[in-house]
Amino acid sequence: MSVFYLTTPIYYVNATPHLGHAYTTIVADAMARWRRLAGDDVWFLTGTDEHGDKIAQAAAKAGVPPQAYADRISAAFRETWKTLGITNDDYIRTTEPRHKTVVQAILQTLRDAGEIYLGTYGGHYCFGCERFYTEKEIVDGKCPDHRKPLTWIEEENYFFKMSKYQRWLIEYIERRPDLIRPERYRNEILGFLRDPLQDLSISRPRTRLEWGIPLPFDDKYVTYVWFDALINYVSALGGPGDARFEKFWPHAQHLIGKDILKPHAVYWPCMLRAYGEALGRGDGLVYRHLNVHGYWGLGGGKMSKSVGNVVEALSLKDKYGNDAFRYFVMREMVFGLDADFSEEAFVGRLNADLANDLGNLVARATTLLARKAAAPPAFAERILGGVLAPVAEPMAERILVPMADTTRQAIEHAMDEFAFHRALAAIWEFIGEVNRYIDATQPWARRGPELDRVLARLADSLRFLGIVLQPFLPDAAGRIREAIADGREPDLANAAFGPLETPPPVTKLSGLFPRIQTDTPRESTSGAPRTSGRPSSVEAAAKAPVTINDFGKIELRVAEVLAAEPVPKSKKLLKLTVSLGAERRTLVAGIAEHYAAADLVGKKVVVVANLAPATLMGVESNGMLLAGSADGKLAVLTLDRDLPPGAKVQ
Ligand SMILES: [Zn+2]
Repeated sequence: MSVFYLTTPIYYVNATPHLGHAYTTIVADAMARWRRLAGDDVWFLTGTDEHGDKIAQAAAKAGVPPQAYADRISAAFRETWKTLGITNDDYIRTTEPRHKTVVQAILQTLRDAGEIYLGTYGGHYCFGCERFYTEKEIVDGKCPDHRKPLTWIEEENYFFKMSKYQRWLIEYIERRPDLIRPERYRNEILGFLRDPLQDLSISRPRTRLEWGIPLPFDDKYVTYVWFDALINYVSALGGPGDARFEKFWPHAQHLIGKDILKPHAVYWPCMLRAYGEALGRGDGLVYRHLNVHGYWGLGGGKMSKSVGNVVEALSLKDKYGNDAFRYFVMREMVFGLDADFSEEAFVGRLNADLANDLGNLVARATTLLARKAAAPPAFAERILGGVLAPVAEPMAERILVPMADTTRQAIEHAMDEFAFHRALAAIWEFIGEVNRYIDATQPWARRGPELDRVLARLADSLRFLGIVLQPFLPDAAGRIREAIADGREPDLANAAFGPLETPPPVTKLSGLFPRIQTDTPRESTSGAPRTSGRPSSVEAAAKAPVTINDFGKIELRVAEVLAAEPVPKSKKLLKLTVSLGAERRTLVAGIAEHYAAADLVGKKVVVVANLAPATLMGVESNGMLLAGSADGKLAVLTLDRDLPPGAKVQ
């Protein structure tokens, strides 16, 4: 059993919960549930950040004391997480005494160690952002965010000697390639650290900012932003010396959005190093991993009833259900990259993946199992009894049973890297295989021991899904376990096929994810991603019919992706090296906004093999990858079952 400590950022109480907060918290929850499922000792923390000018101003505007204001918004976050089924073990608020005590203890320790000094700071200040801007960042003399004039402020403040840790930090990040991940953010930070690191201003005079934690060594000042907020991760565990801290902190992993990369990847490790030094623990207090995700964009769909804002996006959980919401955000966003949120894409995934693939499988399998339990011998005999070849068990042994193991390993690998989308893709490949197993074995036409074998394997499959889906779709997974009367606590150790036994009593479960009727027809279109804004149905209608001979001029082949990499300076293009069996090809595909390069490697795709070569951004492309797109969503065509590279497609 390993120990696992995971944190979300603490959310600033100047805004009510929205899509961005929800995504971070949902993936953290899925990760915490996954590690618990694997038997780990997990501590999962979230909470709220409650100090600062903005809060004091908002409270004044609302005519309430800052604490009352913070109480209200903090409660809204807590309530949202409750309705989303988030399983955090603790909820920290920076206005709690337990937090203030630890912040002050750390400040005092660093002051005593000579790490904090009084200096003068002057700069262009934005009251909206609560921060100073450097000359470089200012746009037309204004705040780049608020577009309002900045105020020059000069004042005495306390500084943390961050600059002296620059060399150490670079070496530390270089020694630990997985400290900051995915790698693009590690590279971003190493790039940032090529410029000299400044000392960090950590206080504000109380004359200007009252709503904060007073410095223990000078109560004319309060601590400012990061020395308050970041320390929540430590204060929630009670700080050094506390049993909970000593147990969980060595395993700390943070999960953040890329907007707060710098404070977490630069300030925080320097603070922890300085504090570790002061306590005689050296590097020992630096966290294990910083996991960074991208931004959500809104309204990718051209025909969309657009999702107006991030709060509205989150409210779709009430319209379509928590599980569907969780599934969509985890499956749609490649962790680390930006993604688009649209109601169309959401409903598309709900219908295709949840209602169709998973929902149908559960309905078919539980119907077969329940019917068998209700009327054992008679039913199969009435229909086609005995005309099928006895292939049921060998097929399960050859495909389903090993696939359960490989699926489990694939989820484990993906979750080790916070690749939630890959974990779900692996589970859905398994779901597809079980659906094919039902089609192939036709259990409705079998009887006796043969039927029992097929049904037992279906029951195994449902039991497997009821466990591995638990971190991602907790409600649906619970209903699946209930349908097959698996009353045990879900445990990854049980996610395997058992020895053949008589199928268990099962209750029929249909409508796990009801299909959503859409008014816009969704059609699949092949070819390169569209750039035209016209509806695809209009385009299809405008095209003249082709004969089979015309179509025969196009050579379509199965290709295996051997390597994939972004085309430099292009946001849209990926360069793919593919195998067509006897030959290798390079082709360029405009899919970089929809797929990470790593996710394509190993995939079997379909290409137009006899397309005339074209040079895109300096790379010669020999062939075209087929992909469908609709409403801003794109999917690469892959194979429903395995074929060798080079196989002809028609
Ligand atoms: Zn501003």
